[in-house]
Amino acid sequence: MDKINVTHSSMPPFDEYCEEIKSIWDTVWLTNMGPIHNKLKGQLKDYLKVPNIELFVNGHLALCCALDALGLKGEIITTPFTFASTTNAIVSAGCTPVYCDVKEDYTIDESKIEALITDKTVAILGVHVYGNICNVDAIDKIAQKHNLKVIYDAAHAFGVEYKGKGICTYGDISMLSFHATKVFHTIEGGALCYNDETLTEKLALCRSFGVKGDELECFGTNAKMNEFSAAMGICNLRHIDEEIASRGEAFALYNKRLSGIYGITLLPSQNIKQNFAYYPVLFDKQKFGKNRDEVIAALNAEGINARKYFYPLVSANKGFKEDLTSLTPIAKEYSENVLCLPLYAHLSENDINKICDIILK
Ligand SMILES: *Cc1c(COP(=O)(O)O)cnc(C)c1O
Repeated sequence: MDKINVTHSSMPPFDEYCEEIKSIWDTVWLTNMGPIHNKLKGQLKDYLKVPNIELFVNGHLALCCALDALGLKGEIITTPFTFASTTNAIVSAGCTPVYCDVKEDYTIDESKIEALITDKTVAILGVHVYGNICNVDAIDKIAQKHNLKVIYDAAHAFGVEYKGKGICTYGDISMLSFHATKVFHTIEGGALCYNDETLTEKLALCRSFGVKGDELECFGTNAKMNEFSAAMGICNLRHIDEEIASRGEAFALYNKRLSGIYGITLLPSQNIKQNFAYYPVLFDKQKFGKNRDEVIAALNAEGINARKYFYPLVSANKGFKEDLTSLTPIAKEYSENVLCLPLYAHLSENDINKICDIILK
């Protein structure tokens, strides 16, 4: 039985990758902001339409460096409907996450943010979930009114554009993940995009142990992207438009089969240039007749791997003194009923039909 996984990393042609890493044998420059790293950085800056970008070893440490560079200490209003990384970065920074519920598009509900602001609040950390974006205009207004920083976890939003602008131009800093499972990858990797150029030096320090020449300027981590990862990025970026278009075709095929089915809610569409990062389906057990976990079992039995993403909520982390999930009932309901179906470039029509047949049966 052919297995269908939930993601399938894009692989550039083997010869293309070999060509890209050849120069490393001449330069013997393996890491620490080498020429391939710099080349990828320039290409991504153009592709993403951002004024400033720095590359990192992964998205998580990039987010940690963002919080560090902004000097945040206090409460950060954020969403529980995300990957562990978002909250972990807040806690690692010595800050306190304050959970705000989400709305139908799975992103933070901006209408509930202001009620959570206290005199300790320093920032809002939103997540662009499944490639759908937060209400960046409303969040910007709230932040300006209360003098808060805005950070976005844009790990799902590579290449997304809103009002003709790169999504990572909104807020103070946006984090991208280039993990192997994402729309664009460098095996492991990440980036920060930001508007204020004066952050560049702070981010560079944070990424390299806080060391500047002979001085130990501050406490920092090690989060540099190596040359082999950057080379993978250059190859993948060459094919990215084709990659996203192919995901879009799979997305449309799913829509054709699953829209209008009683008890199934598909990803609400937004007025953005989409990247087709994920295909979440929300099941209403009462109306659909089966719950999410029963659907997973049926798919698994046929060798198909779907993912409970995001489950559990990050506010269920056992590191907290109590379970915080009841503070955000909508996010809790979504996390118990949502399922991400397999989605990647070149997922065949046959496979999509097979998956939909099992779900609808
Ligand atoms: C993938 C992901 C991250 C972490 O990125 P890494 O590059 O794996 O460290 C953070 N947040 C979200 C929402 C993600 O999906």
